[in-house]
Amino acid sequence: DSSSLYEKEKYPHRRLNNYGGLGGKYDTRVYPAKSLCSHCGLCDTRFIHYVKDSCAFLNQHIGELEYAVHGKERDLEKENELYFGVHLDMLAARMKQPLQGAQWSGIVTTIATRLLETGKVQGVVCVTNEESDRFQPKPILATTVEQIFASRVNKPTLSPNLSVLDAVESSGFTRIAVIGVGCQVEALRSVQSRLGLEKLYVLGTPCVDNVTRKGLDKFLRTTSSSPSTVVHYEFMQDFRVHFKHDDRVIGGNGKRWEETVPFFGLKTNELKDIFAPSCLSCFDYVNSLADLVVGYMGAPFGWQWIVIRNETGLEMLDLISSQVETMPLSSSGNRKQAVQNSIPAYDQGMTLPMWVAQLLGVVIDKLGPKGLEYARFSIDSHFTRNYLYLKRNHPNILQRHVPEYARRIIEQYHLPQ
Ligand code: FAD
Ligand code: SF4
Repeated sequence: DSSSLYEKEKYPHRRLNNYGGLGGKYDTRVYPAKSLCSHCGLCDTRFIHYVKDSCAFLNQHIGELEYAVHGKERDLEKENELYFGVHLDMLAARMKQPLQGAQWSGIVTTIATRLLETGKVQGVVCVTNEESDRFQPKPILATTVEQIFASRVNKPTLSPNLSVLDAVESSGFTRIAVIGVGCQVEALRSVQSRLGLEKLYVLGTPCVDNVTRKGLDKFLRTTSSSPSTVVHYEFMQDFRVHFKHDDRVIGGNGKRWEETVPFFGLKTNELKDIFAPSCLSCFDYVNSLADLVVGYMGAPFGWQWIVIRNETGLEMLDLISSQVETMPLSSSGNRKQAVQNSIPAYDQGMTLPMWVAQLLGVVIDKLGPKGLEYARFSIDSHFTRNYLYLKRNHPNILQRHVPEYARRIIEQYHLPQ
């Protein structure tokens, strides 16, 4: 029973492993979602009592929660809602003065800071890293601007952000913000009414292809030519992975080296097992239940993509209106054939020679999907891949776990058996 499990494992985060959660045999023994657990942190708190109804992998109930949070479910007949969820508006934005060391221009960190400075919240749940390891996540309830600043940049590893919910409860705070990805936010929304809060601001990012800490090492070793110096990476809209290196590696321009590797050059056969099973089973790429989502994939290269889901989201974005420049989103190209081609290529673990990958990267960057069509390309590719993964590995949950919007998206493609 889940409560006794919690008693036994009262301080699990003392034994953080490469999952950012419990190690080895505990990963499957303790956490109720077993191999599908994303180590969102809920089960490291007393809220494990509600795991059966709250866990994104045990009880996918995005539609019901969309209604509770935004006052409506997404309209599946409108393409933008089908893909990007309930929203009042979407736009491209970037900080006029980019925040040094942030993942993109630092919109998330700046909003979180403003929430605290303006007294709208007393604390912000976010994730810093262990001192000894830049990629090892360390969730905190930040109460100072310095702590929020320290949480900037992605930790591209499963992160138990909700593990600080006990601290939130014992703080007595009634107004907080939580920064998180889809699976964390779904669990959070499920227990929100039990937190005794007057106001909760949920600032989300999209999330996909997250890895275990060990998987991250393999990804860096396999993909970057200088794995030990990588401080930051992102899969970008130009169909390349961009790796930023520390100052031990200087590029031709005299600045820190930015290495790029085309998506089509990734060693798919070797990388297939690095993504966490939770991320291979996820259909909430766009973080449907956050108030405001800050990503990049629907925006032009170099800009961030903002999805304002409700009035609370608008209130957060307003806090930084004088610090950002914005522009409308656009969409061009046609993703369909590229997605269809990617399905068997990934499934069979095909890897192209690097010169072919480079060439293909240049061509698709020039002629391929852009703006919102690029975002749809990424969503379609991941949903079809994840559907096949679930069908083959967890057929018993396929029916209840895949939301209707995802089924409609997947139905556009021909999938192998
Ligand atoms: P910053 O100001 O640098 O702040 C980053 C914030 O993210 C911090 O507050 C930190 O607390 C939080 N954070 C960092 N790591 C994690 C984590 N593992 N779990 C929860 N919270 C975390 N956007 C897309 O459009 N498409 C994608 O495919 C995509 N994939 C992503 C995959 C991962 C694993 C993550 C964490 C994010 C992804 N994003 C994606 C979002 C994007 O990379 C940026 O995080 C976002 O645009 C915000 O940039 P920023 O400069 O405003 O963030
Ligand atoms: Fe618990 Fe979160 Fe894992 Fe689900 S994903 S079992 S809620 S820690």
